[in-house]
Amino acid sequence: STGRLGGLNVSESGGVVDAKNLRVKLVLLGDSGVGKSCIVLRFVRGQFDPTSKVTIGASFLSQTIALQDSTTVKFEIWDTAGQERYAALAPLYYRGAAVAVIVYDITSPETFTKAQYWVKELQKHGSPDIVMALVANKADLHEKREVPTQDGIDYAEKNGMFFIETSAKTADNINQLFEEIGKRLPRPSST
Ligand code: GDP
Repeated sequence: STGRLGGLNVSESGGVVDAKNLRVKLVLLGDSGVGKSCIVLRFVRGQFDPTSKVTIGASFLSQTIALQDSTTVKFEIWDTAGQERYAALAPLYYRGAAVAVIVYDITSPETFTKAQYWVKELQKHGSPDIVMALVANKADLHEKREVPTQDGIDYAEKNGMFFIETSAKTADNINQLFEEIGKRLPRPSST
């Protein structure tokens, strides 16, 4: 299902429906151009379509997956759609988020530096039990790689994050990213 939000004042989710059906707010963070929108479109629509980018306002998409233990996870995905320029809005955006996906581009060391800024920001201001994933995107551009895989692994390990390399273009590891997040979500104890 797809819905477009006019602004940021939407009801906060981060919620859990019951022990078997989780519903979580997921935010994407990272420099403009690293492929956040493409990752979401690949996951939700199975497409790679760089031209369909939303240009104004936060876009909102949701997608439900089933995990092996028959739990379902409904991801309510928030994409900044260019709002990374407005740092002051960031806390509104990630408030209530159960998951933060922080993306960089393996061909751009600056975007890796920026990803580390977002990690620190979330450690300071995000939910204490937030699940964070560090995503090294554009893995298909290995000939232009400037950020070694090991640098991402080391940084993620130090910060208790899950790390994965993806390509929104080839679909490599996109579903795995969301499955791994699902597995790491805290489960409410069933009554
Ligand atoms: P955003 O600003 O972070 O949302 O980035 P976009 O999703 O708009 O992507 C920015 C550009 O990177 C677009 O031109 C995409 O075609 C390209 N792109 C995104 N993901 C990949 C990928 O995995 N591989 C390659 N080669 N290009 C990608």
